Amino acid sequence: MTKKPCFMTRLLAAVLAVVMLSSAIYIAVEANHDCSGDDCAICRQISICENLLKSLGLAGAAAAITAAFTYTMCRAILPCAETIGTLTLVALKVKLSN
Ligand SMILES: [Zn+2]
Repeated sequence: MTKKPCFMTRLLAAVLAVVMLSSAIYIAVEANHDCSGDDCAICRQISICENLLKSLGLAGAAAAITAAFTYTMCRAILPCAETIGTLTLVALKVKLSN
């Protein structure tokens, strides 16, 4: 369980963090822009950023739930596996000298 995350995992996490941060900053900076009406490019871009943040938030929640479920299942199964692994003749110190 002490496995270090590989380089690609770190890179993906960093890219996701940069995308989420830049989207949030763009929305905050352009919140009070001079809107030109229905065909406003800035409003369209803000909408895209909001959709991106929502979908990444949903994906993050799904990943967190999946990780929690996997961890719970491993914790439920692993004690049985550890018990089976320790029930050997050597571990129980059984001497077979007949
Ligand atoms: Zn606008």
